[in-house]
Amino acid sequence: MTASDAHSGMLVQAEREAVTAALLQAAAHLAQGQDAEGILRPFCEALVAATGHIRLAWMWLGTPDTAVIRPAYAVGPAHAYAQALVLGADEATRLLSPGLRALASGQPVMATVRSDPAFAPWRAEALRYGLEVSASFPFGEAGDGKQGLVAVYADEPDYFARLGWGPFVAFQHLAQVALTQAALRERLHALATFDCLTGLLNRGAMQETMGSLHREAQRRHETYGVLLLDIDRFKLINDGYGHAVGDGVIRDVARILRASLRAEDHAGRWGGEEFLCLLPGADCAITAGIAERLCAEIRDHPFAATAGRTLRATVSLGMACFPADGDSAQALLNHADMGLYEAKRDGRCRVARASDRSRSLFATAQQLEAALTSGRVRPAYQPIMALADGRLVAKEALARIVTPEGVLEAEHFIEAADRFQWLHRLDHDMIGQVIEHCALTRTTQDPPIAYFVNVSTDLFHHAERVQDLLQRITRTSMPCCTDSDIEKPLVIEITERQFLGDFDAVRQALAPFLAFGIRLALDDFGSGYSSFRYLTELPFAFVKLDKALVHRVQTVQGRRILRGLQDLARDLGFRTIAEGVEDKACADALAALGVDWAQGHYFASPRFEDAPEVSG
Ligand code: GH3
Ligand code: MG
Ligand code: MG
Repeated sequence: MTASDAHSGMLVQAEREAVTAALLQAAAHLAQGQDAEGILRPFCEALVAATGHIRLAWMWLGTPDTAVIRPAYAVGPAHAYAQALVLGADEATRLLSPGLRALASGQPVMATVRSDPAFAPWRAEALRYGLEVSASFPFGEAGDGKQGLVAVYADEPDYFARLGWGPFVAFQHLAQVALTQAALRERLHALATFDCLTGLLNRGAMQETMGSLHREAQRRHETYGVLLLDIDRFKLINDGYGHAVGDGVIRDVARILRASLRAEDHAGRWGGEEFLCLLPGADCAITAGIAERLCAEIRDHPFAATAGRTLRATVSLGMACFPADGDSAQALLNHADMGLYEAKRDGRCRVARASDRSRSLFATAQQLEAALTSGRVRPAYQPIMALADGRLVAKEALARIVTPEGVLEAEHFIEAADRFQWLHRLDHDMIGQVIEHCALTRTTQDPPIAYFVNVSTDLFHHAERVQDLLQRITRTSMPCCTDSDIEKPLVIEITERQFLGDFDAVRQALAPFLAFGIRLALDDFGSGYSSFRYLTELPFAFVKLDKALVHRVQTVQGRRILRGLQDLARDLGFRTIAEGVEDKACADALAALGVDWAQGHYFASPRFEDAPEVSG
């Protein structure tokens, strides 16, 4: 080995270290590369920055079927050379070009400018820029089936041969991993953004879109429209034609929305067969017009059914507009939802904007929600007396909302709770408190009394809440609740208005309560259809006579009806309880008829028992 060889060996060593260090540093940032270009660009930049011998690095990204390659990004003192570069424009360069050869083989390709035939068209130009050798590194699967290429040029013909492929190939592999990761991230993002059945934006993406649309509209003082669509009686389509046809209808509705809306509008799948459309710049009149058009287009569309036949499907739409219907995205969605509810209620296949009534119900529902979350729903207890001797025999727990301004009675928020499907929350909260109260007062209340509590059928649709209540009843220390021989103090009141004929479901849901010995009362009897069937379908222990009926006890007809009911109840083994007794005359008349128990202001008004200073 000569001294000059040794010297050159040291130089090569130093060069390799510089290049390796630069590549290592670039590798540390690879994971942060958001997309393929963000990963390959630093590769080029790191090499050019590492050494003066590398005079040019360029990159390209494309698909495998790309015929012509032009550098997308070039860096280094000779970057101008890359501007004129076109690979694959003619047959000769397509076969010979080192870049294309690297892509075809998947391996790095080195080519010297002076001897490689591929450089024939560019040789003079390359040498003018001081380029003596090129190394091309191919990348595959760079997202969406893309390919990538990085070409690096050095100023000495044997530069890569002397340095060795090692550091470059190692980096190439690292970059490839980062590219694959970026491609996977991109695919995951698409999955998280788009609904796979319809290709529309999914709920999460629509929420984001609506958030930015709302901020933009606020900033620019512009209007926008919101439409919530729901396919009518979709369960019938699924049940009648099968889920595949149902899916087809969902896809077609999505297609109609996309085709009918303007390019700047957004349509997304909001839920199963629900869609959300956002209409930037649309005021109320335009929103209503678009809604009516969509409603008609879907109504008139022949959807594919089975065996080459078609079926008709309709949608209901709820609309809301910014700023008229709310100052937040959530408020607008709520309004559109209320409109949708009204469109369904009023016959379906129509557009509706929430009425004032809905708006006020919504305000009440929000008040209830806040009260439920902050423990401000409290039971007020109204005594129930035995009419024969005036004894206290039971109490009914009545829900109240306690606000700083005063106490709200149940009649003010029951409809809202029902409409927004929160009755189960209200019931769960109330029954829980009554169980506690019952357990606490059990030792001091002598003789023991019963506690009546109102339950809606909505509670029975929430098995986990029913289960929780049953556990709390059994856990409580009250002996009457855990001892199976003693009559349980808790009585569940179900109003006859709740039944709507689905006895089996109600019976099933009640079974565990009844098995435990909790008794049942039929509430508001005489206020609705008062079918005697109710009395035979479930094992009621009590029938509560509705106050409107009770107030008629002073009329001949009213008395006759009440006497008939009383006789019937006695024969069937029910105890009767008169509601809304307001004076002595009424109480006496009911007692004369043999009505067992009664409650009402004449006896006592509802009161909070744990805070006696507040009247319920
Ligand atoms: P309404 O007019 O009140 O909206 O009646 P509906 O029958 O459409 O009532 P609902 O909204 O309760 O029923 C929606 C049904 O849509 C229930 C669910 O099984 C079905 N569904 C939800 N997602 C899909 C889906 O991706 N494909 C199919 N085929 N059915 C779905
Ligand atoms: Mg629905
Ligand atoms: Mg529906």
